[in-house]
Amino acid sequence: MPAFRFDNTYARDLPGFYTSWQPARVPAPQLLFFNDGLAADLGLDAAALQGEAAAALFAGNTVPEGAEPLAQAYAGHQFGGFSPRLGDGRALLLGEVVDTQGRRRDIAMKGSGRTPFSRGGDGKAAVGPMLREVLIGEGMHALGIPTTRALAVAGTGEHVMRELPLPGAVLTRVAASHLRVGTFQFFLAEGDTDKLRRLLDYAIARHDPALAGTPGQEMAFLRAVARRQATLIAQWLNVGFIHGVMNTDNMTISGETIDYGPCAFMEAYDPATVFSSIDHGGRYAYGNQPGIARWNLARLAETLLPLVADGDDEAAAKQAVAAATAVIDEFPVWVAQALLHGQRAKLGLLAPAATLTAADDEEDARLVAAWLAQLQAQAVDFTLAWRLLAGAAEGDSEPLRDQFRDREALDAWLLAWQARLARDTAAGGPAATERAAAMRRVSPRIIARNHRVEAALAAATEGDMAPFDALLAAVRQPYSDAPALTAYAQPAPAAETLVYQTFCGT
Ligand code: AMP
Ligand code: MG
Repeated sequence: MPAFRFDNTYARDLPGFYTSWQPARVPAPQLLFFNDGLAADLGLDAAALQGEAAAALFAGNTVPEGAEPLAQAYAGHQFGGFSPRLGDGRALLLGEVVDTQGRRRDIAMKGSGRTPFSRGGDGKAAVGPMLREVLIGEGMHALGIPTTRALAVAGTGEHVMRELPLPGAVLTRVAASHLRVGTFQFFLAEGDTDKLRRLLDYAIARHDPALAGTPGQEMAFLRAVARRQATLIAQWLNVGFIHGVMNTDNMTISGETIDYGPCAFMEAYDPATVFSSIDHGGRYAYGNQPGIARWNLARLAETLLPLVADGDDEAAAKQAVAAATAVIDEFPVWVAQALLHGQRAKLGLLAPAATLTAADDEEDARLVAAWLAQLQAQAVDFTLAWRLLAGAAEGDSEPLRDQFRDREALDAWLLAWQARLARDTAAGGPAATERAAAMRRVSPRIIARNHRVEAALAAATEGDMAPFDALLAAVRQPYSDAPALTAYAQPAPAAETLVYQTFCGT
């Protein structure tokens, strides 16, 4: 039996949207990471993925039976500037499989060598950034946040030249698809309306099949993508995640997080937080993410307009612009709703949604804003504060108070919050113990903290996988109170956090 049962719709249905290409051969494949759980979900044949055969396969030396490797074309706005021709410069789509739940999944490689889209790059990747994709992706998945996931990482036995020579690796990545806003932009820039139409049909068939062939499907598709992105960004914000490089080529149509390059989790709460060494203007700062997502969605909308009305019919064109604008203008409202929904759970407000009024929305939004303002003013760790709030819900507020210098301000807020909890209970919310337990199921104790990630990647780069393995096990249990994981729940010393920077994963 072949390891993967490929069924490659992209290769089959979209000729002219990619270049068929083969991964580069590497000298000494070595499997560094394999995702057993994901492999099982994908229905892969574990027996065909053992030992040297697996290492050769995931390093790119053997192409699995049924794969049709190809480099996808896409464009993208990078930090606001448009590049009409990006594409898979160091990645290849091997093909698609339908997983055990019936969901179609892309299997793709990253770091598999040069392609016609490589421009000046070497097409390669280093061990550290590929293992970072594993850690952050698995952590996000465990947090219930839609994400691409790593199936395997193989060392290549060769060095890649960066500032220093680094050990090379290939990541095998699983995604709902690799369609991006930038994929649509590529064909708009080419002025190819026919291909845009075919791409839209493909995207709808894959991600929004209910819309296929319905009148107004273009704008309905835009709305569906925007809805998914609104939920996604709200989830990012509620765990303190900063993507770091939200270019339009890094925003998916599926609503999954993709491309864990200079991403990081915020520690002390501050919406202006930026980690990426190349994000000088703070374009992709934590608090800017909803606005950037909206901007990116406006770029997607532009690609769909020619499909709704051709240039000659002015009235239809105006109507199309109005419909697209309505979606783009509603996007911030959807983010705010999704954000408040998540924040309510984190605050322990659990009464049935039907009991909530517009006045509650306003009050609760104010309550969260006051809480966050205190975290910011007192530089409190975002993850820790939310987690410890669960304790306060069952009468143990001292560990939370210990995080604050100005406890009077915190105590005043706690009083207001407790009054709101009492109202929640009256409206059908739970008793204290149950409430605290529910809060601990939505506010993680363990995230992939930056100092831990860096230490694990540095050790792996030197050949020691133990810190990586231990951290991976920890981030896969974000809600666990296990004492053995306590070290992973602690923030870095403030001095370290202040100077922390991330780098694009090239
Ligand atoms: P990213 O910043 O990883 O989203 O990549 C942006 C663009 O740069 C994509 O078109 C990538 O394929 C390309 N790229 C990034 N790193 C390399 C590399 N080492 N070699 C060739 N192309 C690359
Ligand atoms: Mg990218």
